[in-house]
Amino acid sequence: MKTKLVTMEAIKEAGEIIRARELVAFPTETVYGLGADAMNSEAAAKIYAAKGRPSDNPLIVHIADMEQVDMVAKEVPEAARKIMEAFWPGPLTVILNKKECVPDGTTGGLKTVAVRMPSHPGAQALIRESGRVIAAPSANTSGRPSPTTAQHVLEDMDGKIPMILDGGPVGIGIESTIVDMTGEVPMILRPGYITKAMLESVVGTVQVDPAVSGKQMPEHVVAKAPGMKYRHYAPKGQLTLVEGDPEKVVDKINQMALEKEKEGYRVGIIGTDETIGRYHAGICRSIGSRKDPDSVAANLYSILRECDALELDYMYSESFFEQGLGNAIMNRMLKAAGYHLITV
Ligand code: AMP
Ligand code: MG
Repeated sequence: MKTKLVTMEAIKEAGEIIRARELVAFPTETVYGLGADAMNSEAAAKIYAAKGRPSDNPLIVHIADMEQVDMVAKEVPEAARKIMEAFWPGPLTVILNKKECVPDGTTGGLKTVAVRMPSHPGAQALIRESGRVIAAPSANTSGRPSPTTAQHVLEDMDGKIPMILDGGPVGIGIESTIVDMTGEVPMILRPGYITKAMLESVVGTVQVDPAVSGKQMPEHVVAKAPGMKYRHYAPKGQLTLVEGDPEKVVDKINQMALEKEKEGYRVGIIGTDETIGRYHAGICRSIGSRKDPDSVAANLYSILRECDALELDYMYSESFFEQGLGNAIMNRMLKAAGYHLITV
């Protein structure tokens, strides 16, 4: 299959492709999505095939209007309605009980459905133009870092899908917050740009799924978002995170990187704008400024992809405070590192 990389001017054709039950990759404010008609199993199945995604890992249904929630959700609890009104359109996915008509091929056989209204004009245009609600996971090959540019999508999907809509680099850079609204208390299944504190300011107490809250590889606890159990976001080499006193972190990273370099390995260091000038081994990249966590989120996946492209064997990175957006950033970095964290 020939993959067309096109601008948003091709939106009419993109809508036709969705209606023809084929795939279109499209920009959202979080990461690029790989979209198909959510109400059609055959279309949804093509997403799993293109990504090499395990079939029990459900998709998020993207909508453009509040009324479309009722197409897929059996009921919308009062608290869910409140957070939807507060944070939609935006980087928040809400889990609700599903209607019969939503195919198992979209929900991975679950009785619940994940719904999000993206704010990106490109995503909204595709949903409106197609006249469908659109099932979309991130548009990467399973196990690779999520795509934050159309070029990343092309790297993974060339020859596998008919079209990629290029809307430029995304704004946020990490996937949506997922909150389960089917229980007594709202439960965060995946941390993201919408933080626990932001949700609590609207609905009161919110819990975090124990499988995603820690710094340890969660053992014996099964993640409620099926996708969270897979080794995600993994660069090919070994990434090690270092936390602790900032001075000692820099020293430790320099020391470890130098050792591996002397042994003949290809080594990379991920620092921040504040520290990057102090590293002197391997290939050094700043992930952003500590004063601006948004910049760190926005650069995270492209840096991990660059580590792969450079065929690095060992990477060492500073770590981030697990507060606010830092929580979502560390969740992704810990997974990328296989929970390899050193405290100095
Ligand atoms: P992605 O769009 O690639 O970030 O993947 C979608 C994420 O949403 C995965 O982690 C899924 O496990 C999660 N998800 C989708 N539907 C549900 C659901 N009904 N219940 C819990 N998690 C879900
Ligand atoms: Mg994904």
